[in-house]
Amino acid sequence: MNLILLGPPGAGKGTQARFLVEERGMVQLSTGDMLRAAKDSGTEMGQIVADVMARGALVTDEIVIGLIREQLETVKASGFIFDGFPRTLAQADALSDLLAEKGQTLDAVIAMEVDDEALVARITARATCAGCGEVYNDNTKPIPADGKCTKCGAGNKFTRRADDNEEALRTRLMEYYKKTSPLIGYYYAKGQLSTIDGLGDMNEVKAAIAAVLAD
Ligand code: ADP
Ligand code: ZN
Repeated sequence: MNLILLGPPGAGKGTQARFLVEERGMVQLSTGDMLRAAKDSGTEMGQIVADVMARGALVTDEIVIGLIREQLETVKASGFIFDGFPRTLAQADALSDLLAEKGQTLDAVIAMEVDDEALVARITARATCAGCGEVYNDNTKPIPADGKCTKCGAGNKFTRRADDNEEALRTRLMEYYKKTSPLIGYYYAKGQLSTIDGLGDMNEVKAAIAAVLAD
């Protein structure tokens, strides 16, 4: 079972992918996480992508397709969750070719619908535990007063992403509408699209995804 989580920045793709990993043993392939790792590794590619990401623009198709190809070649899994990929029609075509080469299928594309105001509120309030990646939110799930992560128990290091500011977010939203939202039509036409409401709380969204996967 291979699945794409599709939706604008802040829709909750990463949060839901983590649930699927924990509960179903699927493997999350987040191009955003891979690019942030490349950035932190100080490689040449890392330097190129760091600036693009900080502005909220899209990294080139060539780079992200390369990252996904590498993962599909080396990681064995009975199920991949594509999180933040594909983001352009060219990436979607490339994914379809890569899966076909591996004799794999794409089983579901779940579009998570959230309105823009909620996205801005979620993203500008977001902080992540540097130890385990657990996501906190100033409004709905604040960092514990003792500064210790509820998930991993590590203390005091919570990071905010360089692109979680209003200006970069405006660019990310525009990139989403111009380049990624056409994928909704693309997968609809292929008969693979399911749409869910991403606005409810995490567990409601989780249940909606489970219902799609049970079909
Ligand atoms: P979000 O969905 O919250 O915007 P991600 O972590 O998925 O966050 O992506 C962060 C940034 O990484 C994007 O704004 C973009 O610069 C880059 N990126 C991630 N995935 C892709 C992709 N598939 N194609 C191009 N750029 C990407
Ligand atoms: Zn933690």
